[in-house]
Amino acid sequence: DNKQNEYVYQMVEDVIVLLRPQAKLKNIELKWEKTTDEAIYCDRSQIKQVLINLIKNAIEATTEPGDIEIELNESSNYLKINVIDEGPGISEELLHKLGEPFFTTKQNGTGLGLMITKQILEHHHGHLQIFQNEEKGSTFQVLLPKKDQ
Ligand code: ADP
Ligand code: MG
Repeated sequence: DNKQNEYVYQMVEDVIVLLRPQAKLKNIELKWEKTTDEAIYCDRSQIKQVLINLIKNAIEATTEPGDIEIELNESSNYLKINVIDEGPGISEELLHKLGEPFFTTKQNGTGLGLMITKQILEHHHGHLQIFQNEEKGSTFQVLLPKKDQ
């Protein structure tokens, strides 16, 4: 495969630069904060695809104007990337359907983004976690092991 040591913050920054114009069109600000500079062993284009899928979903979920926050942190074993939106959030009912192939609530959705995201993360021994925010919206959290087995 195509795995190499890659700085996670650089992949996040690349994707933010890529999607910022699309967010601007909807009056959405992409805000970004990191507390770690670690690298991980990963497929750079696949991890960027994960970030593109999650940030695009966040943009699509946000009614303008709004903010999306992207955070990169670490725990002892994982790097964590949070994509936090102010959208409608996800009902209990929908939660377990997310990531099923072709499940979409969008008129022109493919319902493939989260499925691909989960596959890529599995390939990296990582996880996707989804939280309901206290105020509003949801947080999609990517966990990537610091030392991929
Ligand atoms: P698509 O974006 O083509 O619909 P995805 O697999 O990316 O496919 O997402 C599947 C579904 O999950 C979406 O149609 C939407 O209902 C829900 N979803 C994904 N991200 C969010 C989000 N940030 N806020 C609310 N719902 C979301
Ligand atoms: Mg999508």
